[in-house]
Amino acid sequence: MSELSETRQRLLRQLPGVDRMLEVIKSNDFFQDIPRAVTIRSVRTVIETLRSQILNSRDETELKTLLPTLMDEIVIHKIKADVSAAMSVNLSPLINATGVVIHTNLGRSLLADEAIENIHAVAGRYSNLEFDLTTGKRGSRYRIVEDILCEITGAPAAMVVNNNAAAVLLCLDTLAKGREVVVSRGELVEIGGAFRIPDVMARSGAILKEVGTTNRTHLKDYVQAIQDHTGLLLKVHTSNYRVMGFTASVSLNDLVALGGEHNIPVMEDLGSGTFIDFSRYGMMREPTVQESVASGADVVTFSGDKLLGGPQAGIILGSKAILDTIKQNPLTRALRIDKLTLAALEATVRLYREPEKAVKAIPTLRMLTMPLQDIQHRADRLQAILSEITDSRLIITRHAVSSRAGGGSLPLLDIPTICVGLQVTGASVNAMETFFRRWSPPVIARIENDILLMDMRTINDDELPDIRNAVIGFLYEGPS
Ligand SMILES: *Cc1c(COP(=O)(O)O)cnc(C)c1O
Repeated sequence: MSELSETRQRLLRQLPGVDRMLEVIKSNDFFQDIPRAVTIRSVRTVIETLRSQILNSRDETELKTLLPTLMDEIVIHKIKADVSAAMSVNLSPLINATGVVIHTNLGRSLLADEAIENIHAVAGRYSNLEFDLTTGKRGSRYRIVEDILCEITGAPAAMVVNNNAAAVLLCLDTLAKGREVVVSRGELVEIGGAFRIPDVMARSGAILKEVGTTNRTHLKDYVQAIQDHTGLLLKVHTSNYRVMGFTASVSLNDLVALGGEHNIPVMEDLGSGTFIDFSRYGMMREPTVQESVASGADVVTFSGDKLLGGPQAGIILGSKAILDTIKQNPLTRALRIDKLTLAALEATVRLYREPEKAVKAIPTLRMLTMPLQDIQHRADRLQAILSEITDSRLIITRHAVSSRAGGGSLPLLDIPTICVGLQVTGASVNAMETFFRRWSPPVIARIENDILLMDMRTINDDELPDIRNAVIGFLYEGPS
C-alpha cells in the first residue's frame, strides 16, 4: 500500500461513527431541545462531509491538515453549526439600506400596523371568511374587500386574487380566450420574473394583435385592427419604463369610446396602481386607479403590494357583469386569495378613506414621500451612533444622491435622498458589502464609487444599532 493510501486509511479509521458521536453529545445541553431527527441528520452530514474530504484529498499535506478536524470537540462544533442552521427559519427580516422602497427581492411593501393587527386578529381564530352572518348561509370571500374598494375607487364591482399577474391572466382568459386582444407595441411590457404580456396572453389562450410602433400608436391603428373576433382592447401602463421623445399613445378615454362603438370591452393593466396623486407631494404624476375607473374602462387591474403598500394581491375592478363572469371562471379558484392576505388588504385599503393619514400610516407611502429633512436627521443619528466607534480605519461620509421607488413603479423618478457612506482603510468595499449581507440581521446596501452607501430613506431608527454592530463586526473580523 502506498504511503498516501496508508494515511488515508488511518484517517478513515479515526473518523467517528454516527452512533459514537450521538453517545458523546447525549449529555450536551445544546442538543436537549433539538428534535432528535435534526441532530441525527446533522451528525450524519458532518461525518459524511469529513469522509468525502478524506477520500478526495490528493496528497499527503492535504490529508494531514484534516487530522485535527477529526477531534471530537471540532466535530461537535461542526454538528452544532449544522443544527443551528437547520433550526433557524429561512425567511427572516433584514435591513434594506438600498433606498429602493418597493424592493421586490426584499419583500416589496411593508405592511401598515393596522394591517398587521388585522392579520393577527384573524390568523388564530375562526372568521366569517365565507359565511354570511345575516343569513347564516355560505358567503363569498370576495365580499370582504369589495365594498371598501368600490367606495375608494368609484368602481361598480371589485374582486381580488393572488397577485396582479393572476389578475391579468384571469381577465384575459375570461374575456378573450380564442379571440384577439389589441395592444399597442409600445405597451408589450416585461416586468421581470418572466412576466411578459405576450406570454401571459399566449397562456390565457387569447391571441395578441399588436398595433402601432414602439414609440407611436394612434387611434386609427386600433380602428384598423378591430375585426369580428376581437375580444378586448387592452391598455398596459408602462409602469417600469417610459417611451420618451417622439411618442404618441391613445388615451384610455379614447379607447373606451372606441370599444363602446364596437361593443368590445376595454381593459387597463395599471401594474402598480395608486390611489394617491403623487404630484401633491412634489413627485411625478402617476395615473391613479380612480382616474382609470372614471374613464370608463370595463376592467382595471393592479397590484396590492406595489404603490398601494398592502400585501401581495391582484385587484380587479370593473362592471358587475364582467366581474360576475370572472368569478365563475374555474381558474379563479386556482388563483384565489388567502384569508391572511384579505385581512391585511382590507385594513390597508380602509386607511385610504383619509389619504393624508394613509400616506403616514402605510410604510411604502411614508418612505416615498418622506421629507428630505427627516432623512437628514436620520443620517445625523446614524453618524452619531457610528462616531462612538473610535477606530481610525473607519471613514464616514455623507452623500446627497437618489433613491428609487422600485417594484416597477415611477421609473423616471429620482427621489433625492441622503446616504451615509462607509469605508474601511485597508479593506475592500466588496468585502464589507459581503460581510454586511451575511451579518445578523443582514444589512443590504449598495456600492457607489467604492463606498458602501446606507440610504437613510429605507432604514428605520430602531435598525441603527444593528448597523453600528455590523460595522464593529467588520472592523474586528472582516478586513483580514
Ligand atoms: C407588476 C406588474 C404586473 C404583475 O403584478 P404582480 O402583482 O407582481 O403579479 C403586471 N403588469 C404590470 C404592468 C406590472 O407592472
